[in-house]
Amino acid sequence: MSVVNSHTEAVEPNLIDYDALLSTFSWNEAYKDFDGLPNGGGLNIAHEAIDRHAAGLLKDHVAIRWIRKDRAAKDFTYHDLYELSNRFANVISRLGVGKGDTVFTLTGRIPELYVTAFGTLKRTAIFCPLFSVFGPQPIYERLSRGEAKILVTTLDLFTKKIKPVIERLPALQYVLITDTESHADKKVLSLPLLMAKESSTFTIPPTQKEDPALLHFTSGTTGMPKGALHVHGAVLTHMITGKLVLDFHPDDIYWCTADPGWVTGTSYGIIAPLVNGVTNIVDEAEFDAARWYSILQDHKINIWYTAPTAIRRLMRMNIDPAKQYNLEHLRLILSVGEPLHADAVHWGEDTFGVPILDNWWQTETGGIMISNYRNMPVRPGSMGKPLPGIEAAIAEISADSLSIITEPEKSGQLVLKRGWPSMFKTYLHEEERYQKCFRGEWYVTGDLARRDKEGYYWFVGRADDIIKTSGHMVGPFEVESTLMEHPAVAEAAVIGKPEPTIGEMVKAFVVLKPGNAPGEQLEMDIIAHGRKKLGPAVAPKEIDFVDSLPKTRSGKILRRLLKARELGLQEGDLSTLEQP
Ligand code: AMP
Repeated sequence: MSVVNSHTEAVEPNLIDYDALLSTFSWNEAYKDFDGLPNGGGLNIAHEAIDRHAAGLLKDHVAIRWIRKDRAAKDFTYHDLYELSNRFANVISRLGVGKGDTVFTLTGRIPELYVTAFGTLKRTAIFCPLFSVFGPQPIYERLSRGEAKILVTTLDLFTKKIKPVIERLPALQYVLITDTESHADKKVLSLPLLMAKESSTFTIPPTQKEDPALLHFTSGTTGMPKGALHVHGAVLTHMITGKLVLDFHPDDIYWCTADPGWVTGTSYGIIAPLVNGVTNIVDEAEFDAARWYSILQDHKINIWYTAPTAIRRLMRMNIDPAKQYNLEHLRLILSVGEPLHADAVHWGEDTFGVPILDNWWQTETGGIMISNYRNMPVRPGSMGKPLPGIEAAIAEISADSLSIITEPEKSGQLVLKRGWPSMFKTYLHEEERYQKCFRGEWYVTGDLARRDKEGYYWFVGRADDIIKTSGHMVGPFEVESTLMEHPAVAEAAVIGKPEPTIGEMVKAFVVLKPGNAPGEQLEMDIIAHGRKKLGPAVAPKEIDFVDSLPKTRSGKILRRLLKARELGLQEGDLSTLEQP
């Protein structure tokens, strides 16, 4: 059964003919839609997302509607955001922040996060949002590696997560607290007090397309998280995908459920909607099915960008949203972060009258690269086709070469031709690691995929051991290092174990130090240690005690083998396995 959604038919898609646009699209042409800073001052994300609208017809249009946990809503117009971000830019300028310095946030989804983002970009400093559910260890790791100069946070998060590590962060000069009315000392200051003293005008200094703007940490299989650095020119990808994929039209009301601590929540929860001049809904609270459906209804949302984990949770609920809520305004639902299986696509169509459009991208790509589009037939289970302007391919790679697989249906590495505007420009302080991601002109994504005869891409899996849990990337190394800080743990290896709702569950295999006996109490204790240090989003949920871990002859843990054994799959090539 298919429900007809009248709103869908009334609005013509921006992308009418995919094939035609594919052959004519040019990034250089698309740049011409930007305003640019006055007097040839270049391209700055905050100018394109806020200031040009505030100076024009959208001045009093709602830019952000913030829904507080208690459900009260507060609107911020483009003009409000213009003034607030100017004040913030003045605050940090006075505190000595200059071009290229890093400003971090550790907050929930509160207005100060968005004001900090744009104020920082106006100052030509680098904005790095952290996920507030992280425990102190991942937070410390990121602040330290990113050499945070300023951190904006709440009093509660400061007390719980920053105070214990502040002495170990020598680069951190100021902490700005969003919810105190007085300064604690010379370093820990009240943001409202500072904001009140500053002017609401600010002149954005000249900004080049290639100037650093955004920093997002992403997990690797070896080593600590990598800081993917993006530039102001990335805003072109945000604008174009906003038009072609999210299908933004004037007066649209849009909701991206991702937290800005993850790249989706920044590229599509902050920048893309505002650069396209629509109203961006921000919900402070976490997932709750009834709350989410009432937000869709009460705020008359047209476009909803969410993730497979949330969709699977909604599918399992005993709620028929079409009967219980009025969702007639909903025109488009999109999903990213993990495979969206065909049954979810069908469920979306039957339930809402619109298909759920899957798309693919990652922290390093800065924006959507492969997608299903409103006006293109959906192949349920497929990620869709490359964005016009993006060249994707399936390839076989070796340490220093790459050969493109032209035959359809063959699996291989998903690669992208380098040079799109939101391509990451380096891993902070790890240029060598960055260079390893490229083979000539191709960027190697680390995902395995296949392309069918009609050019649709299908996700096959990760080429490495990275875990996706509730849509979040978790690097096994980071978790293993933390587990090994527990006094009873000699060695640890971590895998992703398939789980129906959250995609993969973090599971650890632990070798104990002599004198420690495996048991339920010790398992709980190690789990608690993980949760305390890493936070519940990252910590293992299950532990198996083992006598030894399978390793290669060079000493690398064979997580793939642990996973195969856990799932009862074939063990594959064991030629590198060290024999005990
Ligand atoms: P992140 O950098 O945290 O955004 O995670 C990016 C990774 O998530 C990709 O490299 C994929 O492994 C996975 N991913 C993102 N979108 C999809 C999708 N539509 N289908 C399957 N996997 C996806």
